[in-house]
Amino acid sequence: MGASLVLDSARLRENIRVQRAHVAPSELMVVVKDDAYGHGAEWAAREAAAEGVRGFGAYDLATALRVRRVTPRGTRIFTWARMTADEIREALAHELDLGVGSADQLDEVVRVARANGATARVHLKIDSGLHRNGVRPEDWAEAVATALAAEREGILRLVGVWSHLSETSAADDDASQRIFLDAVAQAREAGAELETVHLTASAASWERAELRGSLCRVGAFCYGIRSAGGAELPGIVPVARLVAPVERVEGDAVVLGIGSLDGLPSTLAGSEVGTPGGRRRILRLTETECLVEPWPGARAGDEVRIFGDGALGEHSATTLAERIGTVGEEILVRLSPQLRREVSER
Ligand SMILES: *Cc1c(COP(=O)(O)O)cnc(C)c1O
Repeated sequence: MGASLVLDSARLRENIRVQRAHVAPSELMVVVKDDAYGHGAEWAAREAAAEGVRGFGAYDLATALRVRRVTPRGTRIFTWARMTADEIREALAHELDLGVGSADQLDEVVRVARANGATARVHLKIDSGLHRNGVRPEDWAEAVATALAAEREGILRLVGVWSHLSETSAADDDASQRIFLDAVAQAREAGAELETVHLTASAASWERAELRGSLCRVGAFCYGIRSAGGAELPGIVPVARLVAPVERVEGDAVVLGIGSLDGLPSTLAGSEVGTPGGRRRILRLTETECLVEPWPGARAGDEVRIFGDGALGEHSATTLAERIGTVGEEILVRLSPQLRREVSER
């Protein structure tokens, strides 16, 4: 038995229940991009759907189609990656919700929908200051007009207006919200009948009720990954633990069967992991092995936790990440797809 990422379904569902109650009456959209932050998109989507979640944020087409296969009819699956014409055609065939962030992408969606006799469900994105993607405020009226003209033609439904916050400061986010609300108001004045407006991801959805729209796009917190440098969150627990077996004991080191090829950053050397003998430091990482300080009675087959919920004194993915100057998401997302994912019986 090699290393595995052990997934706790009950915890994922509990985190989802806690967030839903916390953001109500806003709806919770569970974000499953990046293979559900390394946890596995199908697993996460199935569990969330069983919990009653009917909205998912998939980012790209491939992830959206994986979610479509495992969720009930009527589930809304939101994508926001820039798509080719072929991808748009497939997205329309699977009734995905398209986040559109530029005039030329909007034109492309209109063109593909018209050519295929489909009706595209579009959420138009305003650039509220992040400058990553999004229609600039000065181009907004024209983009809305294009969408509404396509709506009259029956090939598009302008269902939403959305944006994304930088979360660099409360003042920046407040300024973004003003731009966002202005764009929503303009769209409505132009005749848009929006089903939804959305602006916030995990941190702002949790901490800043006044920024929430009718829906909150939450990824990290569903998986119990708190913000780096942020406080622990009441009721939110890590959903995954990364465990590796002891392969052998070599005098001054215990050797675990996990290494950098499994996705562990080699910069983790010096961090602590949870062993049956308590917390021990990682001495060194090779491509396939992780050498750890020994503990009395260590033997092959012992289970060591690289990260988890602290039950063996180990760090969470986030505290581990903070020690090497990154975020918990990065630790999880980097884990190799070949690493076994195992759902825990609890
Ligand atoms: C990743 C992402 C989210 C979710 O962010 P978290 O901080 O993980 O909750 C929401 N919206 C967009 C557009 C994203 O890219």
